[in-house]
Amino acid sequence: MSRFNHHGEQKIETDQPQPQSWLSRAYAPTHHIWKSSISWRITMAVFLTLLLVETMVLIFTVPSYEKEQLAGLQEISRSALAFSLADIKGQDSDPLTEKGFAKLKNNSQIEGVVIYTVGNEPKWRYGDQELFLSLASGKEIPANYRWHNNEHYEVAYLSADLGHPYNIVAKINAKAVESRVVGYIRQNLWILLFMSGFVTSVLMLVLSMWLLEPMILLRNNLLSAARNPEKPNIQNLKKELHDEIGMAIRIANDLIRQNASSLKRLRVQAEDKIHKLAYFDSLTGLPNRVYFLEQLEELIKNKALAAGESLAVLSVDIDHFKDINDTMGHEIGDKLLEAIGKRLVKSLPDNAVIARASADEFMVMSLLKPDHPGSAVLAENIFGAMAEPVSILQESFQVRVSIGVSNYPTDGLEARQILKNADIALNRAKEEGRDTVRYYSQAFDDAVHHRFQILRDLRNAMNQKELHLHYHPQFDLKTGAIVGAEALLRWWHPDNSKEGGKFIPPIEFIPVAEQAGLIVPIGEYVLRTACETNKAWQKKGLPPFRMAVNISGVQFHRGDIVGLVDTVLKETGLDPHWLELEVTESVFMENMQAAIDILHRLHQLGVELAIDDFGTGYSSLSYLRQFPIDRLKVDQSFIRNALINVDDKMITRTIITLGHSLDLKVIAEGVETVEHETFLKELNCDEVQGFKYTRPIPADKFWDFAVEYNRVLAKNNSKLASI
Ligand code: C2E
Ligand code: MG
Ligand code: MG
Repeated sequence: MSRFNHHGEQKIETDQPQPQSWLSRAYAPTHHIWKSSISWRITMAVFLTLLLVETMVLIFTVPSYEKEQLAGLQEISRSALAFSLADIKGQDSDPLTEKGFAKLKNNSQIEGVVIYTVGNEPKWRYGDQELFLSLASGKEIPANYRWHNNEHYEVAYLSADLGHPYNIVAKINAKAVESRVVGYIRQNLWILLFMSGFVTSVLMLVLSMWLLEPMILLRNNLLSAARNPEKPNIQNLKKELHDEIGMAIRIANDLIRQNASSLKRLRVQAEDKIHKLAYFDSLTGLPNRVYFLEQLEELIKNKALAAGESLAVLSVDIDHFKDINDTMGHEIGDKLLEAIGKRLVKSLPDNAVIARASADEFMVMSLLKPDHPGSAVLAENIFGAMAEPVSILQESFQVRVSIGVSNYPTDGLEARQILKNADIALNRAKEEGRDTVRYYSQAFDDAVHHRFQILRDLRNAMNQKELHLHYHPQFDLKTGAIVGAEALLRWWHPDNSKEGGKFIPPIEFIPVAEQAGLIVPIGEYVLRTACETNKAWQKKGLPPFRMAVNISGVQFHRGDIVGLVDTVLKETGLDPHWLELEVTESVFMENMQAAIDILHRLHQLGVELAIDDFGTGYSSLSYLRQFPIDRLKVDQSFIRNALINVDDKMITRTIITLGHSLDLKVIAEGVETVEHETFLKELNCDEVQGFKYTRPIPADKFWDFAVEYNRVLAKNNSKLASI
C-alpha cells in the first residue's frame, strides 16, 4: 500500500508543471501530442479527409485544365494556319506551299496538315501524312482526336474558322500540353500537401490546447485520486475553459475533493472507533488495561512528576463477583460492573485515571502531591463508595472490594512492574480475607516467587514420588479406643543441604496446588493410598477404624469427586463406612447448592462426612441443617487457646453443644495436653486428635503405634475390669 502511494506520488510530481520559459510554456502542450493516440487519430482522419477532398478536386479539375490547354493550342494553331494560308485564285493552286508549311511548322506546333476542298476532298498534304482524322465525304467528322500516346493532337478546322475556303485537318504536337498538365498536377499536389500539413498542424495545436491538455490534466487528477484518494494532487487549468471539457474537469475535481474529504472523515471515524475498541471498555465506557498501562508508561517516560510527587496505582477487585455473575446471570453482573465503575469515578479525584482492567478488576491511578495524605485515602474513598448496597432490578447487592496498592517510584520504576505489584498486593488482600486493602511490599513479591518455585517443584514431586502420607490417630474420649486416623500429606523435598532435603509443610504447598489445579491428581493419590492403607491394616488384623481424608474445595468443584470416591472404594475393597471425607466450610462458599448436592451423593455411597476446622469459616447455621454430615471437627486454634481465652472456651463449648443438638459427633483437634483432654471430656466432646497422643506418623510407624496402644489399652481395661 505504502509502496503504491510512494510510487504514485512520485509519478504525479513528474506530471506537475515545472517552472518553464515562456517559449517552452507556449509549446508545452504539443510535447504531449506525439504521445497522444487520440490526437494522432483525429489528425490522421483530418489529414486523410483533406487529402481525399483535394484529390477529388484534382481529379475533376485536371481534365478541364487539359481541355483548356488543348483549346489554347488549337486556337494558336488556328491563327498560325489562317495566317499562313493564302487565298487561291484557281482551284488547283497550292494554298500553303511546302515553303509556307516549313515556316508554319517552325512557328507553331503543327506537324502535318491535310487541306480539303469545301466539298471535303483531300487536296493537299504537308508534313506527317499519317493522320487519323479524315473529312472525306461520307465520314462523320469527329471534333478532334488525340493519339493514344498523348503526344499528338489532330484538329479539324472548318473554312468558317479559318476565314479561307478550305477545310483543314492539322496534326499538332501536344507534348507541351501534357507536361503542363503534369506540372499542374504536381503543383496542385504540393499545395494540397502543404495545406493538409498546415491544417493538421493548426488542428494539432488547437486540439492540444483545448482538448488534449485539459484531458491530460483530467487524467492526472483522476490518476492522483486513484493513487492517493485521501490526498489527491488536484491541478487546475492555467486558463479556465468554459466548454464541455472545462465543465467535466470541474465536476471531476469536485468529485475527487468530495471523495477525499468523505474518505478522510471515514478514516477519522474508523480510527476513532478502533481507538475506542482498543483502549476503552464497551461496558463501562472506562479506559481498559492497555490504555491505563500506556498512560502510566507515558507519565513515567515524560518524567511528568515534580519533586515530592508520586503516583498511586490501585488494583480494585470485586469480592465474589463470579458468584454473583453465576447465580444472578450476566445481565445483573454487567449492570453491577457499570454501577461500580460509576461509583469509582464519583468517589475519586478528577485527575485520577480509572480503568476496567479485566472482568471484575478496576485499576486506579492518581497523582499524589507532596501534601496528599496518601493512597490510604484513595482506598478509603473506594470502600466508602461501596458502602451503600447497589440496587439492580429490585435486588440489592452489598458489594465488597479488595484493593492492592503500589506506588511509583517507591514500588517500581517501570509501569508494568507497578501494575504487577499492585496485583500482588491485591492477591494478598484477597488471601487475607478480602474486603480489605494491602500495600505492596517486597516481602509479597518474595512470597510470590516462593510460590512459583513451589509450583515448579511440586510438578516434579508428583513424578519423583516425593509425596507421602502420614497418619494421625483419632480417639474416642470415653473409651480411649482408636476410632480413626487422618491421612495428612507430607512432601519430602530433597536438596543439597546436610539433611539431604526438607519437609515442606502442607500449609505452604496445598494452596499452591489448589490454585494450579494440581490438587486434583494429588488428592486422588491421597484418597487411593489412604484407602489402601486402611484396608491393609484391617487385613493385617487391626481392629477397623475410619480413615479421614482431607478433600479440597477445588476437588469438589473441578473434579468428579463422587465418581472418584466410588471407584477408589471399589478398587481397594474398603467398606465405605470406614472412609471419612473432611471438607472445610469454604467448599460451600463457591456454590452452596452444588456442594450440598455433592455431599448428598457422597453420603449415599456410604462414606462419612466431617466439616474440618469448624468455627473458623463462614457457616450459615440455617444451611448446616441441610448438610448430610456426621461430624464437626473443632478447629485446633480454639482448643489451643480454650484454657487461656474465655472466648475460645465459649466457642468450643458452643460448637460441641451445637453439634450434639444437630445429632452430630464432635471431634476436637489440637489436643496437646492432659488439660486439653480433661477440658474436652468435661464438655462431653466425643473424639480427640492431637500431639498429646502422637504426631502424624508414616504407615508402618502407625501400625506399631496402634498395636502397642491397643495392647496397653486392653491391659488397662482388663485391669479396670478386674478392680
Ligand atoms: P487439617 O486438616 O486441619 O489437619 C490437621 C492439622 O493439624 C495437621 O497439620 C496436623 O499435623 C495438625 N495437628 C493435629 N494435631 C495437632 C496438635 O495437637 N498440635 C498442632 N500444633 N497441630 C496439630 P498438617 O499436617 O500440617 O496439615 C495442615 C493442613 O493441610 C491440614 O489441616 C489440611 O487442611 C491440609 N492438608 C494436609 N493433608 C492434606 C491432603 O491430603 N489434602 C488436602 N486437601 N489438604 C491436606
Ligand atoms: Mg483435616
Ligand atoms: Mg483441621
